[in-house]
Amino acid sequence: MDVRIAYQEMIRRSREIVLLASCAELLAWDEDTYMPPGGVENRARQLAYLAGLQHDRSTDAHLGDVIDELKDRELVRDPLAPEAVNIREMLRSFKRHTRLPRELVEETARVSSLAQHEWAVARQDADFQRFLPWLARIISLNGGTAKLYDALLEDFEPGMTDAGLARLFDELRRELTPLATALTQARRRPNPGVLRRDYPVERQRLFNESVAEAVGFDFNCGRIDATTHPFFSTIGPGDTRLTTRHHPASFGDGVFVTLHEVGHGLYDQGLDPDHAGTPMGDAASLAVHESQARLWENLVGRSRAFWKHFFPRARRTFRTALADVALDPFYFAVNAVEPTFIRVQADEVTYNLHILIRFELERALITEELKPADLPDAWSRAYRHHLGITPANDADGCLQDGHWAAGQFGYFPTYTLGNVYAAQLFAAAERACGSFDEAFARGDFSGLLGWLRAHVHREGMRYPAVRLIEHATGSPPDPRPLVEGLRRKYGELYGI
Ligand code: ZN
Repeated sequence: MDVRIAYQEMIRRSREIVLLASCAELLAWDEDTYMPPGGVENRARQLAYLAGLQHDRSTDAHLGDVIDELKDRELVRDPLAPEAVNIREMLRSFKRHTRLPRELVEETARVSSLAQHEWAVARQDADFQRFLPWLARIISLNGGTAKLYDALLEDFEPGMTDAGLARLFDELRRELTPLATALTQARRRPNPGVLRRDYPVERQRLFNESVAEAVGFDFNCGRIDATTHPFFSTIGPGDTRLTTRHHPASFGDGVFVTLHEVGHGLYDQGLDPDHAGTPMGDAASLAVHESQARLWENLVGRSRAFWKHFFPRARRTFRTALADVALDPFYFAVNAVEPTFIRVQADEVTYNLHILIRFELERALITEELKPADLPDAWSRAYRHHLGITPANDADGCLQDGHWAAGQFGYFPTYTLGNVYAAQLFAAAERACGSFDEAFARGDFSGLLGWLRAHVHREGMRYPAVRLIEHATGSPPDPRPLVEGLRRKYGELYGI
């Protein structure tokens, strides 16, 4: 076969698979936003059908032949050329998909679609028993595909191992636990109560959309809707869907959840449209995706320079709530450190301890050291041990996140990797461009976004995630910039 024709055929097939995935993504987005509850069974069938089609296309023997034809030819001579990257990643994905039988893929899609619905009801009623049989089924489906946690990790963060992660978490636990304790006991205290006053939801929505637009989110190619558990969806070029939530008595929740999802959205909107539908036009990994979200949420959104620009606007929007609040107490309030039950509301310092708990528990569930029925007790023990608090019910405990209901075991660690990468990338961007403080204070975020576009977004999957971080920052994944950044910022704020 002519190598050019073979390559075109591989790309055509790649785009077809991505197109099917984007249809499924849109249906999943709709399920979590606007679908009436009665549609749940039919939606599960639609998603299972598409998952089956995707599996057929991804494992088609002819696709295997085409990739085989290409993998040792001149196209892969320069391993960083787009053609070589696409061949490398298509081969990896083909191998991964051909390991799984079609029936299992369909069954997993069907069960997790139903399980997510049951989880949402169970969470609302704080009723773990309702969710238990579904959790057990999902674990056995995951156990059927891969006995080892390493294999699940491979799906989300290729190249990252269980042992490598355990070392990274050890270092974070060693550094962050004493820092969290010192901050909790510090004499200087913020007043986070100012964020829990009356913040009308509609005004929050408008304020947060204006923040999203100011940092660079393109509403012509995306939208933000409301949901219970916020997420982002990659529908395709020109269509990035984000979701968020607003609570009338909490300003912080809405603005930081929105900035987080906007960070994901900026990454998708920055991917190279010429390579859409191929690995070169796709995100490097989940953890790199998460790094973009955490970077905009925390390193930008919780900085003093950011609020120097946005606080006057916030005061005009929420006249009553913020009438007696000045910039510095507000900045201190959005950086309050206190142990909480809910991961998505956690501060930057304790956040990684929430992930550590989930990492340890899901590993124990998959290896069957922990029985699903014992999860609520194990969860409470872990929170007492790591954060010194015990959730009053399972809605504030093991039912709070939807990941396990969606079958996403091995996903949680990518959040902490995201924090680690974010700190490295932000430090590298400031080394290259100088401090962003002045620009942020003027409401100008284009310098940072431009650097991220060039060094992360436009690179697609050119490098495996760990290499991308090394290439962009000059060092392999390293928790030190994260730890040092937190020590510096919170040391100043709390005067310790
Ligand atoms: Zn995220």
